[in-house]
Amino acid sequence: MIFQILADKALRGEYLTREEARTVLMASDDQLPDLIQAAWRIRFANSGRRVKLHVLINAKSGLCEEDCHYCSQSRTSTADIDSYPLLSEKEILDGARRAVEAKALRYCIVISGRGPRPKEMVEITSAVRTIKRETPLSLCCSLGLLTPEDAKTLKAAGVDRVNHNLNTSERFYKEICGTHTYRDRIETLKNAREAGLELCSGGIVGMGESDEDLIEMALALREIKPDSIPINFLHPVEGTPLGAQTPPSPTRGLKVLCLFRFLHPTTEIRIAGGREHNLRSLQAQALYIGDSIFIGGYLTTPGQKPEEAWRMIEDLGFEIEEVGSRIQH
Ligand code: SF4
Repeated sequence: MIFQILADKALRGEYLTREEARTVLMASDDQLPDLIQAAWRIRFANSGRRVKLHVLINAKSGLCEEDCHYCSQSRTSTADIDSYPLLSEKEILDGARRAVEAKALRYCIVISGRGPRPKEMVEITSAVRTIKRETPLSLCCSLGLLTPEDAKTLKAAGVDRVNHNLNTSERFYKEICGTHTYRDRIETLKNAREAGLELCSGGIVGMGESDEDLIEMALALREIKPDSIPINFLHPVEGTPLGAQTPPSPTRGLKVLCLFRFLHPTTEIRIAGGREHNLRSLQAQALYIGDSIFIGGYLTTPGQKPEEAWRMIEDLGFEIEEVGSRIQH
């Protein structure tokens, strides 16, 4: 009953208090069906049965000078991953064509590194122009820290959205990264917003943060008002400082998604990296809460194949959000 009252509040556009947010996170597994049903009412009111599909390309892998503890591409990681410099424009365009075939709404170009180098900006914006000309995809770039000039250049090239995650609370941030700060990240989001770009910003669950850290991050995102919030679940990778971390249980993952749904009732909530590894057989239930997923894999870890995601969506009686006309030749 309490969750239905909280859902009513969220649907009226009222903010939940911290205490109410704690109630969501502390729900017992016995209460989970009620909690999901209440979250579903909010999700349905805003996005019906629609699911947005996203495809990522890791356009530059490894070789990163930063030390994010969760990341297999960091300078401290000894994980066995592919490392390569920026892909060619043709390779990035081929990835966009695969995204169209996978029925993706949005294509996300991601590079490792603190931020884009001038030469990389030239090559990425050239690829962006070509993709915008030749496909109907919405484009998101995740390139690390951005200056105001970088953000304006991306906007001028036709980029729709920038991803830059808060990842966790300001308090916990220094526990997961020593080479840049939470404030640096806020600055990048501000630069992107001022350039007129849509924002995608979320976090990672399971890095050792507390409930309060998750609530703090959710509240901080209320100030930022991103257009989409990706919720990633730590997939511990051997060779990284968090490689031995115990990942969140599937039910914990669903409760965290509910927290973000209640606190961000009208925002796209993406069930993002690690969903296959952490939510396992509960992945379909997560779609009653979130309205967006990645398909076809992540930066350095594999993910659900498009055909399997389509089947999951169909089995739920849901529908893939249309991208409009398909690739133009
Ligand atoms: S998350 Fe990005 S900035 Fe941090 S180590 Fe990984 S690639 Fe580098």
